[in-house]
Amino acid sequence: MNALVATNRNFKLAARLLGLDSKLEKSLLIPFREIKVECTIPKDDGSLASFVGFRVQHDNARGPMKGGIRYHPEVDPDEVNALAQLMTWKTSVANIPYGGAKGGIGCDPGELSISELERLTRVFTQKIHDLIGVHTDVPAPDMGTGPRTMAWILDEYSKFHGYSPAVVTGKPIDLGGSLGRNAATGRGVLFATEALLNEHGKSIYGQRFVIQGFGNVGSWAAKLIHESGGKIVAVSDITGAIKNSKGIDIPSLLNHAKEHKGVKGFHGGDPIDPKSILVEDCDILIPAALGGVINRENANDIKAKFIIEAANHPTDPEADEILSKKGVVILPDIYANSGGVTVSYFEWVQNIQGFMWDEEKVNNELKTYMTKGFKDVKEMCKTHNCDLRMGAFTLGVNRVARATVLRGWEA
Ligand code: GLU
Repeated sequence: MNALVATNRNFKLAARLLGLDSKLEKSLLIPFREIKVECTIPKDDGSLASFVGFRVQHDNARGPMKGGIRYHPEVDPDEVNALAQLMTWKTSVANIPYGGAKGGIGCDPGELSISELERLTRVFTQKIHDLIGVHTDVPAPDMGTGPRTMAWILDEYSKFHGYSPAVVTGKPIDLGGSLGRNAATGRGVLFATEALLNEHGKSIYGQRFVIQGFGNVGSWAAKLIHESGGKIVAVSDITGAIKNSKGIDIPSLLNHAKEHKGVKGFHGGDPIDPKSILVEDCDILIPAALGGVINRENANDIKAKFIIEAANHPTDPEADEILSKKGVVILPDIYANSGGVTVSYFEWVQNIQGFMWDEEKVNNELKTYMTKGFKDVKEMCKTHNCDLRMGAFTLGVNRVARATVLRGWEA
């Protein structure tokens, strides 16, 4: 199902549960602003190449809009729209003072050289610099981008507006990045998983995990879950998939993946078809890659009892229904992967204060936010007699709706 159709469907279900005024409902769905720009750069061989870049600013009722910038061949306007909307609900669920946005450039970063990527990032920044800002819209990394990309955006933006480190988060530490930001989404996934298992009288120790995706989020989640005694029995990324029912040696896999740019060829497990990763036998499944991967085609074959959505919108609404009938508990993206944007908020706060926290403080604060987030979601589940996805959506949408009304909404 198209990402935007799926996200709108979840929003509308939440709006019904909350009994939102229909005009307010409609207004919350329409993005504040959609930007589409052409970015033309000279390639290293002297030829010109054009790429389309997007920034969708969804909502700013609760504060500056916030969200990552994705470099991926599948970036398209509907997907960026859906992801921007999800950021609005995510920052609201986390209860950090932001709205939501998302950006992206349709490109394959693996096919571009470092200098081509730098030129592309600078041209994109030139096109959007007037529309982002410390108190308007604060970009961050997402798939295919990272601290280096943020450094280029900061540098280019500062040429127009003066040095402003708080205009982006997820920066290198030397440029005002926060300690703990790189690991934050994965660490947040760990805390979210702990909170959920706790509620079910279980702990991470001894549980069997399958992780789809071994990029920043998947690899940090794997490392931290492994350190907490979880047994990771299968992992996949774009290069391949491996399985070891005795538990994969994650520190060795991390070294292998760094050296070989992927999990393929790792000797501490058997290669399997990456397509079967989601239906491997396990207790807990963590999709940490692309959206829409759990759908009506595979939902029936999923063996996990719990799904922790480290990726954004990995589960189609149709799959949600099937899995719910099977009794599978899904911890939704807008809560489960909110650790990244939460530490982005800490980074922004540190930049504005001109003060740097130590890593322990960052991690402790993150745990406090994740634990509180789970409690708040559960409370909404009780109030509206709904599952965790609708608990998170009603929580997120309700806070945004309240802020909108307080700021002067006239129906
Ligand atoms: N791209 C991340 C997300 O989807 C982080 C966004 C941010 O830190 O602003 O949540």
